[in-house]
Amino acid sequence: MAQTTPELDHRHLWHPFTQQRDWGAEEPLVIERAEGTDLIDAEGRHYIDGVSSLWCNVHGHRHPLIDEAIAGQLDRVAHSTMLGLTHPGAAELAARLVELAPPGLERVFYSESGSTAVEIALKMAFQYWHQGEGSDRRHTSYVCLEGAYHGDTIGSVSVGGIDLFHGAYGPLLFDCHRVAPGDSAGLARLLDSHAGEIAAVIVEPLVQGAAGILVQPPGFLRRARELTEAHDVLLIADEVATGFGRTGTMFACEQERVAPDLLCLGKGLTGGYLPLAATLATERIHEGFLGAHEEFRTFFHGHTFTGNPLACAAALGNLAAFEREATLLRLQPKIRLLGELLGEVAELPEVAEVRGRGFMVGIDLGEHDPALRLGHRVTLEARERGAVVRPLGDTIVLMPPLAIAKADLRRLVAIVAESIEAAHTSLRGAPAAELRAAA
Ligand SMILES: *Cc1c(COP(=O)(O)O)cnc(C)c1O
Repeated sequence: MAQTTPELDHRHLWHPFTQQRDWGAEEPLVIERAEGTDLIDAEGRHYIDGVSSLWCNVHGHRHPLIDEAIAGQLDRVAHSTMLGLTHPGAAELAARLVELAPPGLERVFYSESGSTAVEIALKMAFQYWHQGEGSDRRHTSYVCLEGAYHGDTIGSVSVGGIDLFHGAYGPLLFDCHRVAPGDSAGLARLLDSHAGEIAAVIVEPLVQGAAGILVQPPGFLRRARELTEAHDVLLIADEVATGFGRTGTMFACEQERVAPDLLCLGKGLTGGYLPLAATLATERIHEGFLGAHEEFRTFFHGHTFTGNPLACAAALGNLAAFEREATLLRLQPKIRLLGELLGEVAELPEVAEVRGRGFMVGIDLGEHDPALRLGHRVTLEARERGAVVRPLGDTIVLMPPLAIAKADLRRLVAIVAESIEAAHTSLRGAPAAELRAAA
């Protein structure tokens, strides 16, 4: 007899960011299809997609504009290459991204994931200085923020600040100066003493996602831009998570009127449909790579599927949907509603803190023994009640698709609040206060 999906999965799959032993002990939820902002399992049960299928879905699943864009491209060609050739979707999308992005970003380099978008920005910054006027080769290190998350490849882990993901790879990583998010004075001191050896400062603008949805103090991003400009150090804005409306504006940088030298995009770029990422660069950086062929100032980097036509078509469909549905305009009252609903959640005795910006929210349950897997318990309870969420440790993340209906937003927050209470009750029947005392 044919094996079921859970059987095949447990026998052959290795899941990301997952302790396989725990995974093997649980019945996996099998998602077979989706509709709008609902995921649907093999038995036909619906779940609100409470984390936008890992922070990337924007307009819901099976959106007609994006579906048609991909289907139309499929009738033409699924993939050729950007190495030595071009295609209409890649060129048109680049022009649209330049239009939407903060001023000065004029060049678009494609890859497939947020990690690689960051990796590319780091390499561009490094090579830019390396072959700059007078070959200023001292700019070899970076500044990043404590708690930063920029992806899982070795370069992007090097500029990360989450020990849990970082620790094991120490000997493989390059050096990076770290400052606390919000510490403008610390950043100023660092740049005063090291500017000549720093290639770039890299930040997640406004909100650090994987750190646990940590919101930076207002003005910090603006200050970081002023300081990097004053010291002639490049600024890389990693908007892989914050981009495409997540914090309430198309890009988080807009909120502090910041234009970085390099901008990394991923996740929401295709509306959450297909793997596509982009690194946008200023013309100044691009010009630093111009020269005679035999000078080899070329950017020697490019993935096989860079600028994949189906993915570019999806991204164009995503941007068309933003325009036609006035997604950002219609998001504002939903952000206000979410704020009100979360005000009540923050009052729960089990909740230590609620943080966030726009449609990027963390509900922090405080410090607990990791062995209790409290965050995970909450996700199991939420699943029973019809919502898919995924925690960061003991912080429950809410990142609904921007297109979610108000009624579903209400239901999602209600489910999560109930699930937090139920998870605490299920833990040895101990009430919250005791648990916190024990932790
Ligand atoms: C998710 C994320 C990345 C990595 O993106 P992948 O597509 O998972 O490689 C990079 N930076 C930030 C801020 C992210 O949230």
